[in-house]
Amino acid sequence: MIGDPVRHSLSPALHNAAFAALGLDWVYVAFAVAAGQGAAAVAAMRALDIAGLSVTMPHKAAVVAELDRLGPTAARLGVVNTISWTASPDGWELEGESTDGAGFIDAIRGDDGFDPAGRRCVVLGSGGAARSVTLALAEAGAASVHVVGRRAGAAVQCAELAGAADAVAGLADAVAGADLIVNATPVGMAAGDSLPFDLDPGLLHQGQFVADLIYAPATTPLLTAARARGAGTANGLGMLIHQAARQVAIWTGRPAPLEAMSAAALLALSRRQHLE
Ligand code: NAP
Repeated sequence: MIGDPVRHSLSPALHNAAFAALGLDWVYVAFAVAAGQGAAAVAAMRALDIAGLSVTMPHKAAVVAELDRLGPTAARLGVVNTISWTASPDGWELEGESTDGAGFIDAIRGDDGFDPAGRRCVVLGSGGAARSVTLALAEAGAASVHVVGRRAGAAVQCAELAGAADAVAGLADAVAGADLIVNATPVGMAAGDSLPFDLDPGLLHQGQFVADLIYAPATTPLLTAARARGAGTANGLGMLIHQAARQVAIWTGRPAPLEAMSAAALLALSRRQHLE
């Protein structure tokens, strides 16, 4: 994996658990690669014949130009989180794809039993994760995806991924009428944080599902408020595990060992909390 910072990433624990469970003599390591060095890291992947690369901030968009081809989701988003080797008539090529959005859908549908098909969705935030989730919700058949962002232009561009140029709604109306609310902002991560956009907790209600992409802390103020009002909830750990599982499947061609990966993620998180 390349990114900066990567020191506290759970990805090595997740992926090394997967490789061990699959009986593969592979190892996954995190390289701290500074901004501007993404192209050199991809060149190193070619030179060293590294089997796969996870790409995280700040390189997700910057490495795109270094690749031979993009998968369909990466092509729509203009970012990648996964690089793999793929056979072509000209030999082996590097392909980039983004598994974040599909990982989110796998998590809420597979782990939490919430199927977004035909449902009204609200995404809070318009950054990289919001864009992945918005596109994935639309592809999963959501009836609508409203994007609420503090920068109108970015929110409109994000909403357009769902094919809905008018999907930027006022916060209160959108949240009150939603079946699914996704927090794709970092608000809730820091001690003392309130709800994203100072959302009125009274707008949340039974019958809704509230997903926070944050997984540390495991319970954010948004999730606490949602639970208190009878809504279903999930934090971001499921998305983290499922986007990694899709990477494992891409690199190895085998189904990912989800149980081993979940156990490793929980163990790594508890170790990290213990150290903090
Ligand atoms: P990003 O690209 O930096 O986007 C962050 C978004 O949140 C932007 O739209 C930003 O608005 C908005 N935002 C930041 N502070 C805000 C505030 N105080 N009030 C309202 N909006 C605010 O980051 P990202 O990669 O999308 O990540 C977003 C969150 O998702 C993070 O918490 C990250 O840890 C989490 N995440 C989780 C997973 C997972 O696997 N569970 C994967 C990816 C990301 P501006 O654009 O105006 O700054």
